[in-house]
Amino acid sequence: MSQIRYCLFFILIAIILTACHSLWTTQTQQTPKPQPIMRLPQVEISIPTTDFAFIFSQKATIEDPISPRKQITEHFTAREKTNVSVEDPRLMIDGKMLIDLSLLQKEDYAFPLPGAKIISPYAGRRKNHTGIDLKTHAKDTIVSAFDGIVRLAKPYFAYGNIVVVRHYNGLETLYSHNSKNLVKPGDRVKAGQPIAISGRTGRATTDHLHFEVRVNGQHINPNIIFDLKERKLNDHCLSFTQEGNKIKVEPINVMPHQLAGEYNPFTKKQNKEIVKEERGS
Ligand SMILES: [Zn+2]
Repeated sequence: MSQIRYCLFFILIAIILTACHSLWTTQTQQTPKPQPIMRLPQVEISIPTTDFAFIFSQKATIEDPISPRKQITEHFTAREKTNVSVEDPRLMIDGKMLIDLSLLQKEDYAFPLPGAKIISPYAGRRKNHTGIDLKTHAKDTIVSAFDGIVRLAKPYFAYGNIVVVRHYNGLETLYSHNSKNLVKPGDRVKAGQPIAISGRTGRATTDHLHFEVRVNGQHINPNIIFDLKERKLNDHCLSFTQEGNKIKVEPINVMPHQLAGEYNPFTKKQNKEIVKEERGS
């Protein structure tokens, strides 16, 4: 009798196991198969190899040439060698250019007349002062503000002895009334390198340095580039737009190097308004 019980018990276990197995198999079969993973197209992003990667055009992608003036050479045209105000057709793209001063390291810039005081500001009382006047003592050493190549070095009308340096960053700087120029056109100079001795040649009533910053031939306020009180470089990103024969300069909030190949030319306030408009539409 007990053998029959055992037999029945094993049969029952076998039935339960078979039922469980078939149920498990059914459930497994009903489980949807995982979707194949979508393969995104392989995009290779090349990282700029230059350490001067701070000029971006509005249309530039990360693969585009970073600085239109990266390729400057000492072979200037006759006009570039004889005129202060010359346009560079390769400088701006669609009349726009960005310079991110915050990417410059300490060794990439220098105050043109170390320790100097400003004796006359940009524009000035008569609104026609094309630079700033800096003064220390007579026959002081003037240094290049950034790395670049000397484009012009000669006596130049009311400017007296003048040095103009074209920089890789897109700017040009001008140093005038020098008693002596220490460089000649075509010389490659580093930031902080002596380029002239201050003086009062040309139309000057006292020994000083008349210093200008130029973009595409037009003078801009040096105060935009340098903190003249602290005698150091400002650390913002600047957008330059050609408007007729003037250059409009605006600081922008979005740094171009923070974005992959694009930059946002709008201010924070404008961006907020754009978001509002997009939400409203
Ligand atoms: Zn001046």
